[in-house]
Amino acid sequence: MVTVSVDYSACEGCGTCEALCPEIFELKNEKAEVLDESGGDCDLEDAVQSCPTEAISVEGMDIKFERKSPF
Ligand code: SF4
Repeated sequence: MVTVSVDYSACEGCGTCEALCPEIFELKNEKAEVLDESGGDCDLEDAVQSCPTEAISVEGMDIKFERKSPF
């Protein structure tokens, strides 16, 4: 069981998480909101590692942050 959360102060509204996991994340007012804290069937590790500001946290899952973005 995991709990997904977004640090709104860190989120810059790039939309990557929503593109990867539209059932879990939704952009509202240029911030990602969590629709399903349980994470559903989404590849959360990919979402965490793809967030440019490390704003996504997944409690209960051991994810090492490795920046995938070439930027
Ligand atoms: S990937 Fe990160 S910065 Fe981009 S919208 Fe999602 S939480 Fe915000």
